[in-house]
Amino acid sequence: MAVELSPVSQIPAEFRVKVDHDRCRRCKRCVLNCSFSAIEFKDKVTPDHRKCVACHRCATFCPESAITIEENPMAYKDNANWTARIRQNTLKQAETGGIILTGMGNPKPYPIIWDHLVIDACQVTNPSIDPLREPMELRTYLGSKPNYLEFENDENGKIKLKTQLAPQIKLDIPVIFAAMSYGAVSHNVHKSLAIAANKMGTLMNTGEGGLHEDLYPYSGRIIVQVASGRFGVHNQYLANSAAVEIKIGQGAKPGIGGHLPGEKVGQEISKTRMIPVGTDALSPAPHHDIYSIEDLSQLIYAIKEATDYKKPVSVKIAAVHNVAAIASGIVRAGADIVTIDGFRGGTGATPAIIRDNVGIPIELALAAVDQRLRDEGIRNQASLICAGSIREAADVAKAIALGADACVIGTAALVSLGCRVCQKCYTGNCAWGIATQRPELTRRLNPDVGSQRLCNLLTAWGHELQEVLGSLGVNSIESLRGSRERLRGVGLDKETLDILGVKPAGVGM
Ligand code: SF4
Ligand code: SF4
Repeated sequence: MAVELSPVSQIPAEFRVKVDHDRCRRCKRCVLNCSFSAIEFKDKVTPDHRKCVACHRCATFCPESAITIEENPMAYKDNANWTARIRQNTLKQAETGGIILTGMGNPKPYPIIWDHLVIDACQVTNPSIDPLREPMELRTYLGSKPNYLEFENDENGKIKLKTQLAPQIKLDIPVIFAAMSYGAVSHNVHKSLAIAANKMGTLMNTGEGGLHEDLYPYSGRIIVQVASGRFGVHNQYLANSAAVEIKIGQGAKPGIGGHLPGEKVGQEISKTRMIPVGTDALSPAPHHDIYSIEDLSQLIYAIKEATDYKKPVSVKIAAVHNVAAIASGIVRAGADIVTIDGFRGGTGATPAIIRDNVGIPIELALAAVDQRLRDEGIRNQASLICAGSIREAADVAKAIALGADACVIGTAALVSLGCRVCQKCYTGNCAWGIATQRPELTRRLNPDVGSQRLCNLLTAWGHELQEVLGSLGVNSIESLRGSRERLRGVGLDKETLDILGVKPAGVGM
């Protein structure tokens, strides 16, 4: 027999909302901005600390800077083993009996290998290049490349290319916006990403939620996904794309499917995803079209057939222990692009146990895949895209030196749009209008402003990448690709360095 629990939760407030009532001019902007109903106005501004998720929306928009949000120091007494997170989760499960859901990427303090890699620089005998004076090429092409080119003479005796190239996508900067579905994020986020991708000569990715008709004008810069739920997939969807991506796995939740709760499925999402209003969108954990590499090959060629062999087909997998062998199979199955998503990748909603404990770091997966494809002589047959917590331009440069053709950013893009990484995306109450479908919240993100912020971010990263290239004495991103000799490891053990194919710092060429 179920025992009724006390209506008062034992879970302490994680944060404290402090209001300086002397400064407060009682404009109530904080009350309107808090989408978690953590602030009320009685005779004065009155916080309910337990509801606060530290999204900082109230503090940002308080005209008097009268609000501060602090961690509640007395919530859990310090204990290095029984951490606050473990105890909070234990209390939540004792009260609900459910799995712990979460959003965004894995916050656990696993070593971040990017931060243990340093980049070489030119000195006396090898001159550096000044990117302010010399052209620096960030352009890259995604798609299958031949190992060699054949030429022939045309009827006028001029030399022309005989080799038929597989479809290629030109990127002006090797940074792509990650797959985030319409449903997980708002329409205005999708629009911001599409406009910015178009302006910056890069790509956005629909995720598995289909493509809203409003975004068809930007289709030349959109990767459309065919995921296990096949939401919103139809001929026109495939046609309105720069590339098609078969999603098998996601870094934040390898081996599990997706779930968009019915309350988020309004009219527009229902039309775009082709599911009834108010129904849960459940993507199965296994991709039911694919149970073998042969099945994958059939699906790749079915998509190529449906798109007249004019679009590259990408396959996205999560980084797992045997990722190199899996990637090799994917390339042999005919994929033009392989996207590998590491265990720090972001998500809108997933069980915390999966996000925080399943999968492997992207740095190791990328190095292992690039090396295996080189060893097998098939590296040129597919481009490699690296995803899973690419946080800054330095991560991009290091990923390219480890073998990536381009990187994907999700959380960095959302942070540039205002996300405070409060990790409550799964509630659908995002105060910044990002991970929500509530119309009064989605209006908070203006797509023109959002796209400009994204363009600024990529422009800044582009300049930084050019600075790095200049310091290396090379003038194109192509010259950095797979150049592991330009990296050195600091504080990494021998096994890790061996997998990375990188020498320790202090060792010369
Ligand atoms: S937004 Fe600032 S000034 Fe306005 S009511 Fe809230 S605390 Fe007071
Ligand atoms: S949830 Fe966000 S808006 Fe609400 S009180 Fe906390 S920080 Fe402020």
